[in-house]
Amino acid sequence: PLILGIETSCDETGAGLVRDGVLLGDALASSVDEHARFGGVVPEIAARAHLEAVRPIVQRAVDAAGVRFADIDAVAVTAGPGLATAVQVGLAAGKAYALALGVPLYGVHHLAGHAAVDVLEHGPLPARCVALIVSGGHTSILLLGDLARDPIVHLGDTVDDAAGEAFDKVARLLGLPYPGGPVIDRIARDGDPAAIDFPRPMTGPKDPPYGFSFSGLKTAVARWVERHEGPLPVADVAASFQEAVADTLTRKALRACAEHGADTLLMVGGVAANSRVRALAEERCRAAGVTLRVPSIRLCTDNGAMIAAVGDLVVRAGAPAADLSLGAQPSAVLTGALVTGPWR
Ligand code: ATP
Ligand code: MG
Ligand code: FE
Repeated sequence: PLILGIETSCDETGAGLVRDGVLLGDALASSVDEHARFGGVVPEIAARAHLEAVRPIVQRAVDAAGVRFADIDAVAVTAGPGLATAVQVGLAAGKAYALALGVPLYGVHHLAGHAAVDVLEHGPLPARCVALIVSGGHTSILLLGDLARDPIVHLGDTVDDAAGEAFDKVARLLGLPYPGGPVIDRIARDGDPAAIDFPRPMTGPKDPPYGFSFSGLKTAVARWVERHEGPLPVADVAASFQEAVADTLTRKALRACAEHGADTLLMVGGVAANSRVRALAEERCRAAGVTLRVPSIRLCTDNGAMIAAVGDLVVRAGAPAADLSLGAQPSAVLTGALVTGPWR
């Protein structure tokens, strides 16, 4: 079957077409530049941008895939979690396409999309794997079975800032532009990751094994910068901060693999693009005999193909479709890849 996927949970408007595990084409627009001067995503600006972009983006994806609207067999759309007003826009569009085309509608859990997208590049996932989802809005460790059938087990996540958010905030306090992740990644190349011993939060014996907290780390960086006299060694601060994040993320992800008997680690989200996070994950996976799967950077961040990828899995598994009462679930509790119930 041919699946149209639509994603609008944050600041990216994405559409993608997937047929039987193959990405035929996709298109993406981002309002990231409009949020830059605020240092983070502004929900109302994001929602407006989705409103303008969603129809042309779907059209572009359809053109890129070389298909016709009449060929589409089902529509999959992000139903949550995400910014409520942003999710609503995609959801309304998804319902409209499903209704107009007379095809079933599937409400997709955004995080399931982040995991499922890897299937498009690296083939079916093993029966069991651990997923580390690290983006601007999420930092979660999930235990995945069959995405189309099994519940997603939520092993842990951040109690405050997401890892990407920490990159953005630290960049801001170092006077670097938004989004901070790519900039810190670049600047850190000239720095010494061992120059400053920043804390590895939530790694004590009594801490939740898969919990994260990045707000404390950000504060530790802020204090260090405040106390520092003389010219700021920006590259060393960036490299040391990045090392603390990479160390904490990969340590916990590999612990999850060991404790849950998973021999595959899936790493996705914008922060999975970070060169040090990648290198350390590769090193530690190799040492532990764990296969590391990371989608290409383009598919690691929010996009429409990832939602179509989930749609493709669930349609082929014969999962029940949603009806038009499907509502946005801004903080959808992770139970499965599909969101079916009404919300708001
Ligand atoms: P969501 O949380 O819903 O996935 P998002 O738009 O915040 O939405 P992504 O688009 O997946 O998430 O990722 C953006 C985040 O990733 C930003 O916080 C950005 O700073 C961070 N990021 C991007 N590239 C890098 C990098 N090379 N190193 C570290 N962080 C990065
Ligand atoms: Mg984004
Ligand atoms: Fe995302």
